[in-house]
Amino acid sequence: MTGAEVFTGNFTQQEPIPEDAIDAAIAVMRSGRLHRYNTAAGEIGEVAALERDFAAYTGAKYALAVASGGYAMGAALRAVGVGPGDRVLTNAFTLAPVPGAIAGVGAVPVFVGVTEALTIDLDDLEAKADQARVLMLSHMRGHLADMDRLMRICDDAGVTVIEDCAHTMGAAWRGRLSGRDGLIGCYSVQTYKHLNAGEGGILITDDDDVMARAILLSGSYMLFGKHGTVPPDAAFAQAKYDMPNVSGRMDNLRAAILRPQLARLDAQCAAWTARYRAVEAGLRGTPGLTVIERPEEESFVGSSIQFLLKDWPDGAVSEVLNRCAARGVQLKWFGGAEPEGYTSRYDSWHYAPSEALPPSDRILRAIVDMRLPLTFSLNDCALIARIIRAEVGAVWQQALPTVTP
Ligand SMILES: *Cc1c(COP(=O)(O)O)cnc(C)c1O
Repeated sequence: MTGAEVFTGNFTQQEPIPEDAIDAAIAVMRSGRLHRYNTAAGEIGEVAALERDFAAYTGAKYALAVASGGYAMGAALRAVGVGPGDRVLTNAFTLAPVPGAIAGVGAVPVFVGVTEALTIDLDDLEAKADQARVLMLSHMRGHLADMDRLMRICDDAGVTVIEDCAHTMGAAWRGRLSGRDGLIGCYSVQTYKHLNAGEGGILITDDDDVMARAILLSGSYMLFGKHGTVPPDAAFAQAKYDMPNVSGRMDNLRAAILRPQLARLDAQCAAWTARYRAVEAGLRGTPGLTVIERPEEESFVGSSIQFLLKDWPDGAVSEVLNRCAARGVQLKWFGGAEPEGYTSRYDSWHYAPSEALPPSDRILRAIVDMRLPLTFSLNDCALIARIIRAEVGAVWQQALPTVTP
């Protein structure tokens, strides 16, 4: 490997928090009023202001800022009445906090398969739609399914859709923002997502009763009047006796650093997608490697990229990962038998019984994933693609006799 190019960037290094966001955080600290309900007379706290800003950005009637994306999903499930023993449809290809949120309310995930486009398998969804009242739809790695057909299937079957938009904040399907097709959209604002508050989540809906319940659940101490977007009093009348207070609020410090970031979100999303396109262009045409084609209807945010090594032997996939790692390129594999880092397979979640999904298993075994932080330049992205291309090519040459493409 003498003379081979090496990448020295850091795949988990995000950009610094913008200066105006730092100033806003310092102002909150100087005030001493960090708790969202600790406001001076007539003051709109930073959390309430963030809720207004996010509702305006998404066009939703209501937004609720909470402690994490996982918390938002749990509150959403509870707000639509999911409880112990209920079954909830969800993606087989997703990250652990999704089945975790379902298990967290005592419910049981029913896994729906994944297609080669890395979206939920709509035929499988249609076949299973009579098994649950709710779909927790994870737009995993930013890939949007055909949302028109998905909503038709769910509407026809009476299935309520909750969207997990952890990877699709700022994305859209035929111009409709991700999170606006379902009854509820859930977002994460932890460091690896599209806005960075360290930890945090946001839930949006147009539904008065769902938002009243979610606010009460989040730990509002009956101070719901202080929220940024508040449903009419009638929505709280009964719910305030029925909803437990499950503390999961956001604080003013996090909200303060999020608001200036939200104002720049669209530009950031465009910057991610430019990086994605640079890697994609460099990978296209690599023998043995399948690029994921993105539908025209989808405006995605390229904060990570995936490709398939279809029907490769496990050992050959591991070798690609090792060889790329040796040249500074960190790839993750969703097909590994053991949960590792953020990758795990649906059959690793033993608390959630699953039936085998052979067509999905074939795809999961092929998925290689890479983060694309905005600290990478377009030149970095081209270099990363050259390294992957070379190493996939080298292993493919050796493995060729055992692989039927
Ligand atoms: C990060 C993430 C979540 C949950 O967000 P947290 O804020 O970490 O709880 C949910 N779904 C997916 C797909 C994620 O990647």
